[in-house]
Amino acid sequence: MEIKRLDKLPEKIIIPLRQHRGAVCEPLVKKGDRVLVGQKIGDSDAYYSSAVHSSVCGEVIAIEESAHPDGNKAMSIIIQPEDSNEAVEFSPGKDLSSEELAELIKESGIVEHYGMPTHTVLKPKGKNIDTVLINATSSEWIGGTFKTPKEYASHGINALKLLMKTAGAKKGAIVLRTDDEESINAFESIEVDNKKIKVAPLLGGRRIGYYFKEQDSGIIVVSQKHIYGKKILNFFTYNVTGRKVKVGCDPTDVGVAVCGVKSAKAFYNAFNTGKPFYETVISIEGVSADLEYMQVKIGTPFKDVIEACGFTGDIGKLIANGVRTGVAQYTDQVPVTKGVTRISIQKPEEVIRDESIECIHCARCVDVCPVELIPSRLAVMADQGRFDECRQIYIENCIECGDCAAVCPSKIHILQLIRYAKDAIEMAYEDLPAKESSNLKLGCGCGGE
Ligand code: SF4
Ligand code: SF4
Repeated sequence: MEIKRLDKLPEKIIIPLRQHRGAVCEPLVKKGDRVLVGQKIGDSDAYYSSAVHSSVCGEVIAIEESAHPDGNKAMSIIIQPEDSNEAVEFSPGKDLSSEELAELIKESGIVEHYGMPTHTVLKPKGKNIDTVLINATSSEWIGGTFKTPKEYASHGINALKLLMKTAGAKKGAIVLRTDDEESINAFESIEVDNKKIKVAPLLGGRRIGYYFKEQDSGIIVVSQKHIYGKKILNFFTYNVTGRKVKVGCDPTDVGVAVCGVKSAKAFYNAFNTGKPFYETVISIEGVSADLEYMQVKIGTPFKDVIEACGFTGDIGKLIANGVRTGVAQYTDQVPVTKGVTRISIQKPEEVIRDESIECIHCARCVDVCPVELIPSRLAVMADQGRFDECRQIYIENCIECGDCAAVCPSKIHILQLIRYAKDAIEMAYEDLPAKESSNLKLGCGCGGE
């Protein structure tokens, strides 16, 4: 698989000041300023925030609201690039304490792909982390911008050590997918602390606790069969560690920090080269039969990515982050942000524009829901603003997989309705205590560590 690099400069780079959850950054530059590659151009004093950087050398031509890939608008710094790679001086980190490493992550603008600033995952206020997991189940080595599988393995282990030091955790694990043989072979070809790695499968009741003991090591690599996306952190944590995460809580509440391959690699780069997070690798779907991969500067408009892929012809729909659960875009001027992992292009004839009709109570959505919710009821309650009742039937357990909407013969926009209700609940119920999960897969009592 080849990663192309988008070197052609776009007419403008758009850097939203909100590319993470938490406080929005304040601009550190003004219209007319010249900025350099890697220069910090937005920041916030708030702990729950993350800096933003210029990905090009050029002039700030505006600071204004602009389209954001989440479907809203966000205040953004617009830069007209100049034909120069002049960059700020990057200084690698060395001998940093846990606090200094966390500060390096914040300063480098490193965030998880689900939006949490990575330093807040590793050092959440008022909580202790004892285990760090790198979730490598959904991205093979290529997705993390590593040049070779072997580089992925060695950098991955070193990144895990850095993450553990930041969190003050004694244990860490990289979780691969059982069918990702290339990655498994790569990890089994390297050593940790002069010992060959043996990738251990998580089978039956054996979770990582078993292998920490068996391998007598604080760092292990394991594999299991599922793909765990960004909304499935609680299940991932349970399946890997055996620790149940209550509804409304996250893995940090049970002492676990879950990081992605991309953020781990970005941290590794920031530590070793001093370079902040201003470039990312995304996949592009719809140009050819296979996915295309491209390394792009953060802030590059979708239009320039699409052109660089050689796509010609009419576009019916542009979607950020996957056809099933992503967000359709109303303009191709929307920029690639830290949270964008995929651009999907649909031709006009591929776009499905079905009108939704009434629920026919077929229960197909119930059958497919992987977390045993009742999506049809959630959709009705969300539509009617009955958020209390949504919470009573565990809407927070929804992992936003979109399977319910995909099978619904009435074409009801179930996922959108659920997301709408979850957002409303998050704003209204922030202070309520966490509840025990009703979910059978979480609460089956089938074991733990
Ligand atoms: S999106 Fe639908 S199918 Fe998927 S977890 Fe949520 S309710 Fe269940
Ligand atoms: S799949 Fe659609 S039509 Fe069938 S019960 Fe669920 S919401 Fe209703």
